[in-house]
Amino acid sequence: MPAIATTSSLNDYPRLSISSYLEQLRITQPDSLPVSYKHKGKHHSYNIELAKTSCNYGNYRYWFLCPSCSKRTGVLYCAGTYVCRHCLSVPYGSQLQQPIDRLFSRADAIRQRLGWQSGVAHGIGERPKGMHQRTFNRILLEYQQLEQKLIGAHYATT
Ligand SMILES: [Zn+2]
Repeated sequence: MPAIATTSSLNDYPRLSISSYLEQLRITQPDSLPVSYKHKGKHHSYNIELAKTSCNYGNYRYWFLCPSCSKRTGVLYCAGTYVCRHCLSVPYGSQLQQPIDRLFSRADAIRQRLGWQSGVAHGIGERPKGMHQRTFNRILLEYQQLEQKLIGAHYATT
């Protein structure tokens, strides 16, 4: 078992709490929350998937779906990309942090090139109009390999 990031170390990360969006979510009821920020001089912009579960009196409770493992969580931590604390504990204290950061960025760069919605949680999209099938296959292969690595990096430590 890897060490879960401790509370004090979690404080080192910028966090996103679902509770700060409740009013906005209640009004617009979106499926995802667009985020846009700068981390270590790099610009990030993508959507974080949301889930809702019903609770008392016909109300809903909203959750983030972790962009890395798609698990429901109320708080996300920024380690380049926002992830849940379990995914955060994967790179935490190891040398994996930089590579996994790069994998996410690379995956998103490919998504952008293909015109797919940002965020690996959105899955595989379609071939863009005007792109050769062969080119698309090559890019798709690279993307799928990246995705495998991201999944592998996650499960190796769960
Ligand atoms: Zn996660």
